[in-house]
Amino acid sequence: MACKRYYPPEKLQQFLTQFDSSEKITLGFSVQNRPIEMLEIGSGNYKVLIWSQMHGNETTTTKALLDFIPWFLDGNQKTLQSSFTLFIIPQLNPDGSNVYSRYNANNIDLNRDAIDQSQPESRILRATYEKIQPDLCLNLHGQRTLYSAGKGGRSASLSFLSPAADIEGTVTPARKKSMGLITAMVKALEEELPYSIGRYDGTFNPNCVGDSISQSGTAIILFEAGHFPDDYQREQTQSYVLKAYKALFIALIDHNQVFESKEYFMIPENENEFCDLILSSATILVDGNEIKNQKIAIQFRETLIDEKVYFLPEMKTFGSKLNLRAHKYLKLSPSLQNNVIEFKKGNLIENIAFNELFALKN
Ligand SMILES: [Zn+2]
Repeated sequence: MACKRYYPPEKLQQFLTQFDSSEKITLGFSVQNRPIEMLEIGSGNYKVLIWSQMHGNETTTTKALLDFIPWFLDGNQKTLQSSFTLFIIPQLNPDGSNVYSRYNANNIDLNRDAIDQSQPESRILRATYEKIQPDLCLNLHGQRTLYSAGKGGRSASLSFLSPAADIEGTVTPARKKSMGLITAMVKALEEELPYSIGRYDGTFNPNCVGDSISQSGTAIILFEAGHFPDDYQREQTQSYVLKAYKALFIALIDHNQVFESKEYFMIPENENEFCDLILSSATILVDGNEIKNQKIAIQFRETLIDEKVYFLPEMKTFGSKLNLRAHKYLKLSPSLQNNVIEFKKGNLIENIAFNELFALKN
């Protein structure tokens, strides 16, 4: 299964050609000397700093941003344009984005570098934040297919977090604001995404950028674009992320909307309950023993090959019963049941017959 999840720096550069130098600023350069660009749009006093693709393989929120920008700039949105100035960094990690990696070119997770500031990308974000002194930050990410919205819940198609400002999880004034805004977005989407919106793990980690900004007293919201059933391209998710962005700004200017931060805590927490695929009636070989009638849990490994992302079947666990749910279940046909699979956790199923059966390779 090949897919369009890849969003490299060249594509962003093409998108940015429509903006002139008054709206487009090069903030600095990545480890491999790629420009890190920021758009400044709108003329309002309320400043919102937004960054996406801090993790280069998390592209859905970037694509939704590129849908949001023309909506925001449309003639119908004069009120929004005069209320807000948006500072948008669509791709904070262009080197990682180029090779579809979470990490930057020095193999550092930029979302664990808030204290160390060891990477140019981290320093650029921090300097931009300090220069702008935004009223609100949006920290945009994508999450894997593992999560359900609460125990036994549906796949978490979207998740949000108001990052902790301290180890006690104090609801500071800034957090109160971000919690209320998250509630507004959940309300706007819950009819379309019932039981499918989760609350991300809120354990305080000052080395995460969101937590460090929350600690500084600025309201910040973490977005996680997740998995919608059968939507490995994440096109459906992209449309929900776009709706969330719109709902957020509408809530910010609508003074009649009052959102209680306590409702935030009613959003179910993400649980790690899913794998991508469970094969049943499989014969496996493990430690030299052949065992029949087993279930194999498979997690897809997203792999960039020739500028396309492929989902390769990685073995996660096996058993006659599994304590996991899957986005898809497949019972092997009698001929494939005799096809022995050597089970090794973390290895790919290389058997061509299986790959063809599941159309996992193009
Ligand atoms: Zn991320």
